Amino acid sequence: MRRMPELPEVEVTLRSFAGRIDGAEVRSLRLGLPLRWPLGRDAQSFAGCRVGTALRRGKYLWLPLSRQGRAEGGLLLHLGMSGSLAFGNAPGPAGRHDHFDLVTDQGVLRLTDPRRFGAVIWSPALDQPPASTLLARLGPEPFDPALTPQVFHAGLRRRRTAVKVALLSGELVVGAGNIYACEALFDAGIDPRTRCDRISRPRAERLLASVRSTLARALALGGSTLRDFRDAHGMDGAYQAEAAVYGRAGLACPRCGGTVRRIVQGQRSTFLCTACQKR
Ligand code: ZN
Repeated sequence: MRRMPELPEVEVTLRSFAGRIDGAEVRSLRLGLPLRWPLGRDAQSFAGCRVGTALRRGKYLWLPLSRQGRAEGGLLLHLGMSGSLAFGNAPGPAGRHDHFDLVTDQGVLRLTDPRRFGAVIWSPALDQPPASTLLARLGPEPFDPALTPQVFHAGLRRRRTAVKVALLSGELVVGAGNIYACEALFDAGIDPRTRCDRISRPRAERLLASVRSTLARALALGGSTLRDFRDAHGMDGAYQAEAAVYGRAGLACPRCGGTVRRIVQGQRSTFLCTACQKR
């Protein structure tokens, strides 16, 4: 089974179509089978809208729309567990897993989502419901300069959960999905079971740097290997091939030669080297 799209995959997806759809005029919007939530507006009403500059927030993508120069809300998209977005000039007839087409004069944006946990929702603005409600619990973006070591450490100090669980929640920083959280904690030398409020300021700073370098590496791999949208899922494989601990239970730790272990935290697999990662 393909792994869930994580923040780097979503960012690479955005980069692959944002420039090409910018300024496009919507001709029609086609829906397939129901996705996670309803669109929230008549599909016919989008014809004639113009697409603005798409952006990413967490694992959501926002496609702003306007009509005759006036903002007309936008579409909030999520890839769910198995979704992928493709933008092309002649995508062909929709297949049975293609549940959303935004047909524009510059190409067709298509969501393919076999498990249908993905979503396309209309919202009057990014900072109004339903978009604002869905985005409300997201922590800071990993590369936001406002996320300083001080801010990150303060967030850790307010929490008593295991640091791996806190990273996965996305409340301290978005984007550290399972593979990236495991790798960042290994890089920072921090045991994933360490309580957040026991992490010192220097270790917090190290962890934030590790989260950033781990995600930057994934983005760089995605940028270099991505040929079309569907390849975004191939990033998992490309990144995993050079993972130090993720998916490597029983194998040698690349740093000390000890054995990588797998444990379960919050029903998710965690991979670690207990010799290299300290509480
Ligand atoms: Zn080790």
